[in-house]
Amino acid sequence: MAEFFKNFTKKVTDVASNVKSKAKDTYDVTRLKIDLRKKEADLDLCFERLGRAYYVNTQKGGNDEKLIALLEKAKNISDEILNLKNKIAVAQNKRICDHCASLIDKDATYCENCGQKIVVASKEQENEFQVEVIIEDEE
Ligand SMILES: [Zn+2]
Repeated sequence: MAEFFKNFTKKVTDVASNVKSKAKDTYDVTRLKIDLRKKEADLDLCFERLGRAYYVNTQKGGNDEKLIALLEKAKNISDEILNLKNKIAVAQNKRICDHCASLIDKDATYCENCGQKIVVASKEQENEFQVEVIIEDEE
């Protein structure tokens, strides 16, 4: 069974690398999305434990080490989730909503998930715009 999966994975990898880079991106995004779901489940579990630890902490009236460790863990997982979403956004030419961190179309005016207006104001995007203008000038 393990041999089958090994061969199957190799076949998928070979196919993915043989097809154009666009297909490779799709394969990578699938992997990223699997990682993302796992991390989101980890975060849910972490929040559940955090809630319990917070409750215990308030009952004891002190700074519980377990609570602080869980707070740090939740922050780390959240950062990893954002990192994965950024990679998916780059691979799929999308962006992340500043309000709810959903993956949305790069040109979206409003977030498809939370409905917030998308404000494009970061320096990175200004630079990106300048690059596009330069390319147009060369044509
Ligand atoms: Zn949103």
